Parts: sequence; C-alpha cells; structure tokens
Amino acid sequence: MISGEYDVVVIGAGNAGMCAALAAQENGARVLVLEAAPFDERGGNSRYTAGALRFVYNGVDDLLKLCDLSEQEIATSDFGTYTQDKYYDDLGRLTDYKSNPDMAELLITRSQDTLLWMRSKGIRFAPMYSRQAFKHEGKFVFWGGLALEAWGGGPGLIEGLFNSAEQRGIEVAYEARGEHLIADDDGVHGVVANVEGKTTEIRAKAVVLACGGFEANAEMRTRYLGPGWDLAKVRGTRFNTGNGIRMALEIGAMSYGNWSGCHAVGWDYNAPEFGDLAVGDNFQKHSYPFAIMVNADGERFCDEGADFRNYTYAKYGREILTQPHQFAWQIFDQQVVHLQRDEYRIRQITKVTADTIEELADKMTEYAPVDKAAFLKTIREYNAAVQRDIPYNPTVKDGRTTKGLAIDKTNWAMPLEKPPYEAYCTTCGVTFTFGGVRIDTDGRVLDVAQKPIAGLFAAGELVGGLFYHNYPGGTGLVSGSVFGKIAGTSASKLMGRNA
Ligand SMILES: Cc1cc2nc3c(=O)[nH]c(=O)nc-3n(C[C@H](O)[C@H](O)[C@H](O)COP(=O)(O)OP(=O)(O)OC[C@H]3O[C@@H](n4cnc5c(N)ncnc54)[C@H](O)[C@@H]3O)c2cc1C
Repeated sequence: MISGEYDVVVIGAGNAGMCAALAAQENGARVLVLEAAPFDERGGNSRYTAGALRFVYNGVDDLLKLCDLSEQEIATSDFGTYTQDKYYDDLGRLTDYKSNPDMAELLITRSQDTLLWMRSKGIRFAPMYSRQAFKHEGKFVFWGGLALEAWGGGPGLIEGLFNSAEQRGIEVAYEARGEHLIADDDGVHGVVANVEGKTTEIRAKAVVLACGGFEANAEMRTRYLGPGWDLAKVRGTRFNTGNGIRMALEIGAMSYGNWSGCHAVGWDYNAPEFGDLAVGDNFQKHSYPFAIMVNADGERFCDEGADFRNYTYAKYGREILTQPHQFAWQIFDQQVVHLQRDEYRIRQITKVTADTIEELADKMTEYAPVDKAAFLKTIREYNAAVQRDIPYNPTVKDGRTTKGLAIDKTNWAMPLEKPPYEAYCTTCGVTFTFGGVRIDTDGRVLDVAQKPIAGLFAAGELVGGLFYHNYPGGTGLVSGSVFGKIAGTSASKLMGRNA
C-alpha cells in the first residue's frame, strides 16, 4: 500500500500526529501516517483519555462557537471563564515557571483557534458536566479551568480524526513502526520503518515525529525517571516506547525539558500492566481531595486537598510510587461518597467497605497490608483536627482545613465518621513523560547547536520544554493539537524540497 514519494510522513497516529497530518494535507501535501499499533489499537494515548480540553474561553459565547448548549443548560450552568492570564498563571505555577515561554505562549494563545480549526475538520465538543461541575445552590458550577471535552471522549476524538483523514485521502499504515530517520548533511529525507515485519524505506520531503514519549518503556523509565519507575503501571498505549525521541537523538537532535519528570496518577492497584481500551481512564481514582490517603505504615503522606484535583493529580502518582510497597489507600465515608467520580463505580476495582474503621483496616490488609494500630491513630487524629466550623464547599477551595497535623489537609477536610466506610487501593500509573526533543516556534526539531534540522518536525508528548514537575489537567491533548497543527503546516511548506 505504501508507494511512491510522499511530501510528509507523520510517525504516530495519536491526536498530535493526526492534527499534523490534517494540517499538512490542508496545504496540498501528500501525507502518509505510520502507526506502530495494529488497526484495533490505533489512536495512542489520545484514545484512552476522557477528552478533557484546557483552552482559553472568556465566557459562554466562546463555548457556543465550539459546541451546542441548550437554553436550559446555559441557564442552569456557571461555566465561568478561563482567560489567557489564568492559563499562564496555572502553567507557570505548576511548572515552577520553567515552562518554555515561547511554547507556553503558542499553547495558550492558539488553544481556542486550534479547537475551532478541529471543529472545521468535523471534531465535536461537549460540556464536561459529569467530571468538572458540582451542583451548588441550584447551578452546575464548573471548576478547575476545564469546561469542554471531545464528544465521545478520547475514542470519539480519535474516531473523528480518522474519519476526517480518510475523507481527505490521508493514508495510514498500521503495524508500521518508524525505526530510523534517513538523514544526511542536508537534513532528513524519510524514514526506515518496520511495516508488518518488513524493513521498508520511505522517502519524504518532511517527517513529523508524533509518536509519544517513553512511558511504555520500562528500561527508559528506570534510566531517566529513576529507580522504582520500572514497577509503575502504564495508563495508556503499550506502543509509546521512546522510539521517536531515540531516532531524533541518533541524528543529532537536542534533548530538552524535564527528562526525570512525568505525569503519573493514583491508578487501581490491580490494573493491568498497560491500559485497557475497554476501561479507558477509569482505573484512575481522582476523588482523593474528598478522601484521605494512607500508606502501608497507616500514615497520610500528602495534602489531599492542596488544590482542585486538576492541579495535583499528575504529581501524586510519584508520591504513591515513593511510599513503602508503592500503594496508597483512599478512605471515604458516606458524607462524601456522592462526590466520587464515575470511575469509582466500575467493576474492575480494588475496593473494600465496612461499618467500622477497625473492620475496614482488617479488610484492607487482605489486599495490601497496612499497620492497623497506626492507621486507627491516623484516623482519630485526623478527625479531631478537622475545623468543623468552616463551611464545606466542593466547588471552591473552601479552606476547610485540619489544624495541627504533621501534614494538614487544607481544603475539603471532613471527619470520617459516617459508615459504611469505603477504601480504594491505588498504585502509581504513569501517563506520559515530560522530556523529549527541542523544537522552535515553527515546530522544527533543533540540533545540539540549536539550529533546525531540515525536514524534521515534532509535536505531542515527545517534545520537551512545556511541562516540568507537574501539569494542569487537559493540556496534553490541546498541546498535541496546537503543536501538531504547527508542525504539519510547516512540514507542508517543504513540498519543493528534494526527498
Ligand atoms: C488514561 C489517560 C487519560 C488521559 N486523559 C487526558 C485528558 O482527558 N485530557 C488531556 O489533555 N490529556 C489526557 N491524557 C494525556 C494525553 O493522552 C496525551 O498528552 C496526548 O494524547 C498525547 O498525544 P500524542 O499524539 O503525542 O501521543 P499518542 O496519542 O500516544 O500517539 C502516539 C502514537 O504514536 C504511535 N507510535 C509510537 N511509536 C511509534 C513508532 N516508532 N512508529 C510509529 N508509530 C509509533 C503510538 O502507537 C501512538 O498511536 C491522558 C492520557 C492517558 C494515558
């Protein structure tokens, strides 16, 4: 099926790669997408997502440009705003102000326009009522800077992107793994790929790398993230093994960004080694701001209520990984279970319930043992420290804190006293890695002298420089779209070049 010469070869058929392919095709390029996975597993990590999207909107009018909202929905919802300033503040605060300013500016200033462009390609969006809004005083109040998701979540987004590509004649080859770039002193001229087991040379005027980070590669995780990371579970695709980064470094690309950092969350203790498309992101357990978390020593180890979950979840996976035996139990009582997200109601779950805390501890120990005496002491001290006179409100950082604990819970503190109690066991699930190659504002990959490598572009997870230490939820897809579109557009400008 792969035949002739291509203007642009995109390596990786996730959100970033498909946006690059659509942008290149829009400018007249003949485009081939190489995807390492078989057809049934296409779509990369992007397909495992809920499709949450962090982009700039200044009110409901901006949302109406992207999705349909009924008059009733508008009347009963408080969508708030997510201004450019707020986005800069969040990205800066969460990354210790290390995010590359040029990249941050592109991400933020182009976020809304890029989603509008995706809509023009047939991608649909919908409000995120179930995960990002709580009903408060008769209205659905959105919080955490996220208002919309891709219609149908990650699977819907991927289906939309592939349909759009198919309608526009973009070719996609499956079980086609990019292995080496064809490069000389004049830059990149194509790729050597393993296509259904056969080594195949594919010439092109430009190559866009969009094949993910190294999260699914245990050896690279251990080498770059550190000891213990070989044992983390992978939340998404098994195909993001760092090949794109390796290929680029092999020909002199510059490494960039937070190579020892990654996005990692609390993930079901008994989840499989890699993601399961039938379960999607539901192995995550993201309602911990309304719970407490304890480790094998029966002790709390972080401020569960430090911020909205969108701003803490991506770094708490690492906290769990560093606990003894790499697990953490989340404990809820009946005062807060109604705040649990839908992922707490799936079948594949490591959960115990009991009418007393003592009995709960015994049941927890059957799965992942905790020090019972220490656990009971932790609960007693926590309950006594809750400042009950401060009103409880899950739609804002309510300041309902504990006082006097070694680690206070600074928002949404609720004593555990209304049975039955529920406990959920989590371990660390790695989402994607932060380190990668360096690009300029045209999506061109830079070499070690920080000069563009002719014919080579990159987008998505394998680009370093945007995320350090932490990450604001919903940014991965939008950054893939923004930088994918930029890379595809730039690549299509090389159509006059020799392959
Ligand atoms: C469970 C889960 C939930 C998430 N939820 C959200 C969310 O709601 N919102 C959000 O913004 N982000 C979310 N993310 C993060 C988001 O998925 C990523 O940031 C984003 O999808 C990355 O897009 P990408 O195109 O760079 O990578 P991917 O979508 O992973 O695509 C990379 C593709 O490259 C292919 N590939 C790898 N190596 C090769 C090779 N050598 N040759 C050819 N192909 C190759 C892979 O098979 C894959 O299809 C979530 C991630 C996970 C795992």
